[in-house]
Amino acid sequence: MHDVIVIGAGVAGLACARGLSEAGRQVLVVERSRGVGGRCATRRVDGQPVDLGPMFLHGDDPAFLAAVDRVPGAMEDWPRLIDGVGAPCQPEALQAHQRRIVFAAGLSAFPKHLAEGLQVQLSTTVAGVDVVDHTLRVRTADGTVLEANDVVVALPVEQSLQLLVDLAETVSGTDGQHDARQVAGACALLRMFGSVPCLTLVAGYDVDGPPLPWDVQYPADSECLQLIAHDSTKRASPAARVLVLQGRPRWSRQRLELPAESWGAELLAEAASRLGPWAASPRFTWPHRWRLARVERGTELRQPLRLTLSGGQRVGVAGEVFAPGGGVQAAWLSGMRLAERLLKEPG
Ligand SMILES: Cc1cc2nc3c(=O)[nH]c(=O)nc-3n(C[C@H](O)[C@H](O)[C@H](O)COP(=O)(O)OP(=O)(O)OC[C@H]3O[C@@H](n4cnc5c(N)ncnc54)[C@H](O)[C@@H]3O)c2cc1C
Repeated sequence: MHDVIVIGAGVAGLACARGLSEAGRQVLVVERSRGVGGRCATRRVDGQPVDLGPMFLHGDDPAFLAAVDRVPGAMEDWPRLIDGVGAPCQPEALQAHQRRIVFAAGLSAFPKHLAEGLQVQLSTTVAGVDVVDHTLRVRTADGTVLEANDVVVALPVEQSLQLLVDLAETVSGTDGQHDARQVAGACALLRMFGSVPCLTLVAGYDVDGPPLPWDVQYPADSECLQLIAHDSTKRASPAARVLVLQGRPRWSRQRLELPAESWGAELLAEAASRLGPWAASPRFTWPHRWRLARVERGTELRQPLRLTLSGGQRVGVAGEVFAPGGGVQAAWLSGMRLAERLLKEPG
């Protein structure tokens, strides 16, 4: 029997696991991927770290910023040079009251640092959560069943909803009205939220190409491009010039099921129309299809969810939806606040 199982090693799940573990709880984090960080993602493309999700961390919450400051290798004030008057996906990101931070090793340095000292079981997909004989059970896709006193679900909102719907089926059969109503209420609440997609293309070029006088460009008038980030300006001595092209949500949604070659070519053509013909012929490309990139702006809640079932078992739900503003700061805050609630308000 585990004390606490946290499902999802994104920033929200790791912040929660860390808060609980620092207070003496025994926590197991289970994560579907081969690494931690979720959407706060860095990949090595052609040997070079490239940020694939957010292009920089930003925020104004002192506790969040203090957590970021504990990670070695931070580089303050990226992007320094901004071109265009289009809006970033979180417009407040560029306002004076927010700090902006990147890491030479990539933004995943932040979740990796949060995960230090935690027990994280990677490559483990959770297929469902149920309650049997007053015990919470986490069922993995390979058929393993893990039992726990408390379970924290920290996934993109659509995926958290799936696990709660699964839980609702078992509580309605066992523990009567109170539990069934609580879980059904949580499902109804989560159904109000949705995430937007983002088709992303990494494009690598020779380092000595034509100069680019900016770190990020936000085109105002493009149907398809939300931003172009000059990612390699975050790296100490990059082997390649790397641009990250992020598609707008509506444009991305319309092309989600098309082959990457098709939408990748559109993004490159649009970049070339702005930067010059050289941008149409990268040395290498890497497409990434974010189906659930970030929660729809302005629809977030203020607090994480905590359900207490009639046998005393607790289920918490955290993630970027559960703190104002969405994004990485909100994910971190929701995880920390859920940890506080689980510690301060025993069943
Ligand atoms: C392209 C893009 C641009 C963005 N831009 C910004 C920005 O400018 N500013 C900003 O603040 N934020 C931005 N974000 C959003 C930010 O990345 C997210 O809000 C934040 O990282 C979410 O963290 P999370 O912990 O809530 O969820 P996630 O990071 O999604 O973590 C959930 C984890 O759960 C795992 N998982 C999923 N299903 C299962 C399962 N069944 N079993 C086990 N594990 C599972 C996933 O693999 C993942 O690791 C952007 C995101 C993207 C993709």
